[in-house]
Amino acid sequence: MKIVFFGPPGSGKGTQAKLLSKELNILHLSTGDILRDKLSDGDLLSIKLKEVMSSGNLVSDEILNQIIAEKLMSKECSNGYILDGYPRTILQSEFFISFAKSNELNLDIIFNFKIDFKLVEERIMHRSKQEQRSDDNIDVIKTRIDKYIKETYPVSQFFSKNFGQKFFTIDASQEVSKIQKELINIIKKGQK
Ligand code: AMP
Repeated sequence: MKIVFFGPPGSGKGTQAKLLSKELNILHLSTGDILRDKLSDGDLLSIKLKEVMSSGNLVSDEILNQIIAEKLMSKECSNGYILDGYPRTILQSEFFISFAKSNELNLDIIFNFKIDFKLVEERIMHRSKQEQRSDDNIDVIKTRIDKYIKETYPVSQFFSKNFGQKFFTIDASQEVSKIQKELINIIKKGQK
């Protein structure tokens, strides 16, 4: 099963992706996690990445497309995957769609997490206290939300138009367990 998650930062899509990947036994492919892993490398790239990520801006499309192309062709993805945090720009989405087409990697479902931005700010401030992520403070949050609105929201609209029957919008203000049930129900219905 191949799934894509869209949603603003703090919409809970990471939490849901983790739970669902266990349930379905498929890879949770979080580009944020992959990039955070690279930060400890201590090389030039990691210094650059840290600068971009801690300001709330987006890392270059070139880097992301390369990471994803490698991952999607790897054994880890042979059972399927949940893409969490990619594609995030129109260029990434064009790359992804053509890459998926030429490698016969058809998407099964797209979940679009929808939530009020004020609630997002509150959630991320709460998370910053718990996880001490350097990109979780109020100015950075505002930049990240702004990036979502300008860069990623149009991508989700594109997917909504082009993958209509596979595209499901989820009310992300609900409780974690309720959302999880909703996702699983949608997947089950699609398999009938
Ligand atoms: P996330 O954990 O998905 O919120 O990602 C954390 C940070 O990693 C983002 O604020 C970006 O700086 C960077 N990042 C993650 N995924 C992408 C992507 N697809 N394109 C560009 N930057 C990304």
